Amino acid sequence: MENSVHQTASPPTPLCPSARCEPGAILLGVIQADGSVAMLAQKQRVDEFFVKLAHEGRTPEKRFRFADSCLKSGCQQWTGNRCGVIDRVLADNPDYVGAAELPACSIRSDCRWHQQIGAQACGVCPLIVTDLTEPVPPVCPA
Ligand code: SF4
Repeated sequence: MENSVHQTASPPTPLCPSARCEPGAILLGVIQADGSVAMLAQKQRVDEFFVKLAHEGRTPEKRFRFADSCLKSGCQQWTGNRCGVIDRVLADNPDYVGAAELPACSIRSDCRWHQQIGAQACGVCPLIVTDLTEPVPPVCPA
């Protein structure tokens, strides 16, 4: 008798498009001199060597954008049922109109922000820099 139980593959975990620079993360884009993000069309994962080099100088999250599995409740941006980052950016920029065409993107089908908001998220996405903290000045010895 034929086995009638079919295993269905669980849907892939949505990807956070503003993740940390860690081995295995996807390099999503490169931040340009004007502060916007040049999104990469091809999916490329970074390795330990890239991560080590990228941590020399300014933090990599100021110079690149990365994507990795959405941590949901493991992330302070999770509001209970969605990511708060893209909601806040759109609320802060209600009149912003992005480019007519969606930016190139290697993760669109799995992106948490795109799943939440759709194309509107992609309009503001190239303006988002993950690490906006100021560098901490060195403490002078007394
Ligand atoms: S918001 Fe749009 S452009 Fe940005 S990472 Fe997600 S799918 Fe790509």
